Amino acid sequence: MWRSLRPIGRSGASGGYRRYAWTGADAECRLWFQAQAEARGLDHEVDRNGNQWAWLGDPLRGDAVVTGSHLDSVPDGGAFDGPLGVVSSFAALDELRRRGAVFTRPFAITNFGDEEGARFGLACVGSRLAAGQLTVEHAHRLRDGEGVSLPQAMEAAGYDPDAIGPDPERLARIGAFVELHVEQGRALDIGGDPVGVASAIWPHGRWRFDFRGEANHAGTTRLADRRDPMLTYAETVLAARREAELAGGLATFGKIAVEPNGVNAIPSLVRGWLDSRAADQDTLDTLVGAVERAAREHAEKAGIALDVVRESFTPVVEFRHALRDEIRRVLDAGDPHGTGRPVPVLGTGAGHDAGILSASVPTAMLFVRNPTGVSHSPAEHATEDDCVAGVLALADVLEGLACS
Ligand SMILES: [Zn+2]
Repeated sequence: MWRSLRPIGRSGASGGYRRYAWTGADAECRLWFQAQAEARGLDHEVDRNGNQWAWLGDPLRGDAVVTGSHLDSVPDGGAFDGPLGVVSSFAALDELRRRGAVFTRPFAITNFGDEEGARFGLACVGSRLAAGQLTVEHAHRLRDGEGVSLPQAMEAAGYDPDAIGPDPERLARIGAFVELHVEQGRALDIGGDPVGVASAIWPHGRWRFDFRGEANHAGTTRLADRRDPMLTYAETVLAARREAELAGGLATFGKIAVEPNGVNAIPSLVRGWLDSRAADQDTLDTLVGAVERAAREHAEKAGIALDVVRESFTPVVEFRHALRDEIRRVLDAGDPHGTGRPVPVLGTGAGHDAGILSASVPTAMLFVRNPTGVSHSPAEHATEDDCVAGVLALADVLEGLACS
């Protein structure tokens, strides 16, 4: 499976993947998924939000066990974020058939559309639409960097953009959804475990900081006469790092816009975006509050005007405890990766389709060790042994949930 998936959407220059929603690379990934489904005798269908499903058994019976992830990527993404979950799902089904397991519940493997949001700027569009967490009006307004709207892109790919929207009947047929994903951090590596179970997805959000000063000539304006918002921005970046360390959370300024954006001009405006995440709401509130306070103190001293706007926010997602405990029981009983220790339970700062679906469906996640913790980069990696451990763990979980 990896061999056939490897060349799709791969950039020769970076070695990373550019599999964006409704592009040619996305269509190739979808054909790959369909071929894998058909090779195993599964019924392939695409729902009206562009998510792919490969069914074993009759979905209309309900209480289905579903596993899967996504095949799209961020710009120059790694090979594993998304595809590891889809490949492992097919491999786990092969393993269950090898074991002679008999399915007592309908079973499906999914590929959720546009998970990364690389093209239209909003993550998890396929699952959000299905779960009713993204309105059709909002989705229809999404545009990519070239000005192509989501409906235009869907139509060009042969799909009907007027059919998108909430799909409660479909979600109601799912009794459990399990997503396997490469870990996007080093918790498993530090603990020496190949596989872990997710406890929660951290609350996270984006805040826009507008620092306004006075544009002027870089060569003729005395230092004492300047009102330079870049300096206040820089002090805020350092404060964010310091406050994140103090609070035990994460704070990142990774995007900036400068006006007039000239080499020889003192800026009039510096706009910086803060991405902040923490294990719980209180820590996140404390952290972002402290960054904003530091920014205001520096701005006041320097005669800089500051506006802070929260642009997006996702509260904590606690995965269903009963399903998580059931999964831990199955994995601890089987000890599929031979550590002799209970399977670790860990939180994550990254969003996933499983997090979106958890509002409608009992949901759980498995993580596979990533030795460097690097993700959203061509350097993202998981060893073959760990990938196999992930497949066996997923097979055990699915057998426990769906088989007699
Ligand atoms: Zn992912």
